[in-house]
Amino acid sequence: MIRIPLLNLNRQYSFMKDGIDGALKRCLDHQHWILGPETAEFEAAAAAYLGARYAVAVSSGTDALVMALRALAITVKGKEYFDPSDEFLTTAFTFTATGDAILRAGGTPVFVDIDPATFNIDIDQVRGYLSSARSASQPVNQSTSQPLTPSVSRSAGVVGILPVHLFGQSCHMTDLGDLVRRYGLLMVEDGAQAFGAEWEGKKVGTFGHAGAFSFFPSKNLGCFGDGGMVVTDDGSLADTVRMLARHGGKDKYNVDHIGYNARLDTIQAAVLLEKLKYLDDFNARRRAIAATYDRELTAIGGLVLPFSHQDHVHHQYTVRVEGGRRDRLRAFLAERGVESAVYYPVCLHAMRAFQGRAKTAGPLTGAERASAEVLSLPVDPLQTTEDTDHVIRSVRQFFR
Ligand SMILES: *Cc1c(COP(=O)(O)O)cnc(C)c1O
Repeated sequence: MIRIPLLNLNRQYSFMKDGIDGALKRCLDHQHWILGPETAEFEAAAAAYLGARYAVAVSSGTDALVMALRALAITVKGKEYFDPSDEFLTTAFTFTATGDAILRAGGTPVFVDIDPATFNIDIDQVRGYLSSARSASQPVNQSTSQPLTPSVSRSAGVVGILPVHLFGQSCHMTDLGDLVRRYGLLMVEDGAQAFGAEWEGKKVGTFGHAGAFSFFPSKNLGCFGDGGMVVTDDGSLADTVRMLARHGGKDKYNVDHIGYNARLDTIQAAVLLEKLKYLDDFNARRRAIAATYDRELTAIGGLVLPFSHQDHVHHQYTVRVEGGRRDRLRAFLAERGVESAVYYPVCLHAMRAFQGRAKTAGPLTGAERASAEVLSLPVDPLQTTEDTDHVIRSVRQFFR
């Protein structure tokens, strides 16, 4: 019986076994489990890879988002947390943690619809909300030639934006950058699914005041447990994130802030250092599989393929199944040994956790429709041509 999982981590481990085993062995030998030598080494390697000045390795992607936001509250607002009157625009179609991080940092998420073609935040709706009377934001017209300088120019209203590079594809960073400058917004990028993705030759995560990444095992760069990272070009922001992750101070026996114990384990940094060597190759393999799907699944009535541009790193290959047949396709594929998944079955604005704690920027029909239609197909960098062909054959059979 054929079995094609979304991602086969056993196969991936076998593929890089010698390097990984060597890295783990070095940790066993030095026994320096917290902030050992591999942590700083990985931060330097990741910062260099992404083209960011600073990288702070932390305990998860969720913690990276929370601490990036809190560090902005501390450095820009001079307060430990944002206030509920501080709004952050973000997408309604993302992983739970994106919206939750805004709440945990004290702010209010304002959920925005998605562009149906890219699944990413609908920039027209962002623009509409920013210019509408509902928003207290006023254009401040920062010059576009200036680097982003963190500032909050109002006491209430939209203070920031948290774009998500969903499924491995960059948001439109030129348009978002223009809005951020025009309205003097803070920007934290959620790059959890897009390590290595680019917008016009620049890596995602490096456009905003800070970028957050996740090394959850299934991500394009994943470790052997939970892990994450904050990148920034701003030294005081990096220092503040570093303090927050170490109980809130430079000296953990005498702290300045309400902190966390949220460091990345040395052993995870050692694994990531090894896996980073394979990242570009693996992302290229993902792109090649996606290109095969694009070619072979085109022009099937009721099946909408994802829009991809060349810098997509295809964390997921996500199609839309029209006509209420998504769950039937999923079951049909499962019978043929093809695993698939629904990311995401429930939009954030529909979750209980956000009731009474979040706002919406307008109608979220694109996001709602996506949650009913999306299906992610296997795009494992090491899946064989036969695997990919079997997926294609099975999808075609369903629509015949
Ligand atoms: C995975 C993910 C996160 C959270 O990362 P964890 O490491 O699991 O905490 C946040 N945002 C998005 C879009 C993600 O996919």
